Amino acid sequence: MRTAKILVLAGLIGSAAVHTPVEAQGSTPAARHAVRAPRFAIRNATIIDGNGTPARGPADILIVGDTIAQVVWLDPVEVRSGRARRPVADAEVDATGKFVLPGLINAHAHLQSDRSGVPQPYEYSFKLWLASGITTVREVGADNNDRLLAARAAERAGTSVSPRIYAYLRFGSARTPELARTRVRALKAEGADGIKITGLDRDILVAMLDESKKVGLRVAHHAGVEETNVWDDIAGGTTSMEHWYGIPDAALRDKRQHFPSDYNYNDETDRFRWAGRLWREADPILLDSVLSSMVRANVAWVPTLDIYEASRDLQRAQTQPWFRDYLHPALEEYFKPDPANHGSYFIGWSSTDEVYWQENYRIWMRAMRRFEQLGGTIACGDDAGFIYQLYGFGLIREMELHAEAGFNPLQIIQHCTANAARVMGEEKRLGRLRPGFLADLIVVDGNPLEDLKVLYPTGTTAIVNGKSVPTGGVLWTIKGGVPYHGPTLMAEVRDMVTAARAAQRPAPR
Ligand SMILES: [Zn+2]
Repeated sequence: MRTAKILVLAGLIGSAAVHTPVEAQGSTPAARHAVRAPRFAIRNATIIDGNGTPARGPADILIVGDTIAQVVWLDPVEVRSGRARRPVADAEVDATGKFVLPGLINAHAHLQSDRSGVPQPYEYSFKLWLASGITTVREVGADNNDRLLAARAAERAGTSVSPRIYAYLRFGSARTPELARTRVRALKAEGADGIKITGLDRDILVAMLDESKKVGLRVAHHAGVEETNVWDDIAGGTTSMEHWYGIPDAALRDKRQHFPSDYNYNDETDRFRWAGRLWREADPILLDSVLSSMVRANVAWVPTLDIYEASRDLQRAQTQPWFRDYLHPALEEYFKPDPANHGSYFIGWSSTDEVYWQENYRIWMRAMRRFEQLGGTIACGDDAGFIYQLYGFGLIREMELHAEAGFNPLQIIQHCTANAARVMGEEKRLGRLRPGFLADLIVVDGNPLEDLKVLYPTGTTAIVNGKSVPTGGVLWTIKGGVPYHGPTLMAEVRDMVTAARAAQRPAPR
């Protein structure tokens, strides 16, 4: 039986017949973790594409190699009677009752190999991301470029368990416009997929954006309180604004925020406290023209709402339930309030600070809605590894915060798939569940349009017969046709964390 079937397959691969559904013969073996089958089917799926269109199904999705070959819409009557013509495969996942989406794209990711002197292997972040349904990360600043580029090479060679990696290398600083151009060319030569910038003076920003355009590199901008703001990005052609700094700044009537006289920008508690009082100073009419100018100039927005959430609700951030089993001791140490660690600024953080930040979020979220209404592109990123955000979990929280901002779940999924692909210039092969696209997709236990929490790798809970039972979760993350079993990845992460905790010696004090 098996031999006969393989012969049929051999005839199909590489011929035009691949696009003709054939009757399945017998049962297909189940997919295996981390093993790519030549032809792999996901059966009876309800599909949510990344382009904002509604869910539809059932369908069989056929993957050949690393590419989506076919989506076969099924007639339930024919399925029941056994007359449906369905693609033959070497391995399958039965997605009856499940939702299948394009793999999520984390457009603002960081890879760190060490936090507060405690080693933290990349493998930890990679597995958490994959288990959260993330098949691509846009890395915007690692602690070590060589290590990052080596990880990207291993991913591309298929020798590691990792999402796709796009390396946006840090620009750092340059003393003169000419040196800024040299630096851009050097990053291009190093193999950058794009450049990440922070805090540049205007002449440097103008030169680096111009040179980036010349060499074909996209630019992600984490602005601070600078002499520039998003008007400069609009003029110079920045690809995406990260977080939100630089946007309300461009809408200040008095050009400068009203800081107290003892404000010190290098004091992170000061900086984050007063950042929470910035959106309220933006003039609504000016802000509207800032947002529409961003849209006209094609400047996208990766807001990373999740990474500031501790500022509006510290206790929520510090007590996330997945910390118990999945928080690496390196991160645990790094998250402790300490002026030496970036983002660990919660010293004397007050209810007053939280209330300002809650208002800050309301205005920020309204601006995001307006930006999209005007035609702007919003994408998602987790920015995890800072401020109590855990890799992967942070992106799902980001999606919930997009819901709080008032976006429809279909739009939110689009933010984290097709839109993010467009920000990276990969919209022709990533971010959609469509024949010809790379086979990056996820099988979710539950309907994310009803409850985004089903996307958390630990799932959620439901009441069945009066008892709380676990449900949801990303069951399978398929990257380039390779299926990864979510619960298996999470078990591996838990083991990694347990071993790292055991290896921690009591701190000498
Ligand atoms: Zn970041």
